[in-house]
Amino acid sequence: MTREALNALIGVIKGRAGEDAPFEAKQILKEYCKGFAYGELSESEFDLCLRAAKRRAAGEPLQYVFGRWEFYGLDFSVGEGVLIPRADTEVLAELLIDRLNGRDGVFVDLCAGSGCVGIAAAKLTGCRGYEIELSDKAADYCAENISRHGLTDRLRLIRGDIYDGEVVARFADGSLDAIVANPPYLTEREMNDLQPEVRYEPTQALYGGRDGLEHYRRIFSVWKAKLRPDGLFAVETGDGQSDVVCELMRAEGFTPSVHKDMAGLPRVCAAYLKGK
Ligand code: GLN
Repeated sequence: MTREALNALIGVIKGRAGEDAPFEAKQILKEYCKGFAYGELSESEFDLCLRAAKRRAAGEPLQYVFGRWEFYGLDFSVGEGVLIPRADTEVLAELLIDRLNGRDGVFVDLCAGSGCVGIAAAKLTGCRGYEIELSDKAADYCAENISRHGLTDRLRLIRGDIYDGEVVARFADGSLDAIVANPPYLTEREMNDLQPEVRYEPTQALYGGRDGLEHYRRIFSVWKAKLRPDGLFAVETGDGQSDVVCELMRAEGFTPSVHKDMAGLPRVCAAYLKGK
C-alpha cells in the first residue's frame, strides 16, 4: 500500500521536485502517516499526504507545507514570512553552544528569524539570552518556538531593529558572553537567481543589499561594546563573503577565524574579543 501511495505522490510532485521527488514523497508520507515504518496507511492519512503533495507541486517549500522543520535536532514551527532553518546554520549554533557551555552566560541572537540558533543554545546550555527580530511575522514564529521549547523564562524576544538606539541601549556595555547573527546576506544578483522555493521566503530575511554585505558593515561597530572582554562575536556569511567579512571584523579590532559548514564551505566568521 505505501509503495503505491509513494508512487502516486511522486507522480504529483515530479514536475516540481524533479530528481528529489522520491525523497520528498517519502518525507511527505513519513510526516502524515504514523504507521509508515510498518507499511500501514489509512485513507485519511493518504488524503493529508495528497493535499501536501499538491501544495508542494504548486511550488511551496516542503517546510512551509509541514509547518515545521528540524534544526540542531529540535523541531521548529515555520511558515510563510519566516526564513526556514538551514543545516548550514548549525555551525553558528555550535560555536555559540561551545562558548556558553559550562557557564552562566548571556547571549544575543541578532536577526533571529524562527529563533532556531538562540533556542538551540538556550535549550542545550541552560544559559539566558535574547532574540531580536524586526519582522512581525518572523517574530511571531520566534515567540511560538520559544514557548514550545519551554524557554519563556530564559529567552526573551525583542521585537525591533538591531540598529535602533533604544534596542541597543537595553544591553550594558561589556555584559554579553556572545553575540551571534545570521543576517540577510544575499546579493542583488543572487536574489535575481533564487530557486523557486526560496522565492517563497521573505526577501527581508535574504537580501543584504547590492553586494550582500550591508549588515556586516554596521553590525560589529554597533554591537561590539556590548561584549565581555572574552566574548564571542560570530556571524554567518554567504557565498564568497568570508574574506571580506573577516576584513571588516579586523577593522573593528577582532581577530576572526573562518568556520566551515557540513558541505565544507566557509560559513561563519567568528572572533573572541581580545582572544580567548
Ligand atoms: N542561506 C540562505 C540561502 O542560501 C540565506 C540566508 C541569509 O541570507 N541569511 O538562501
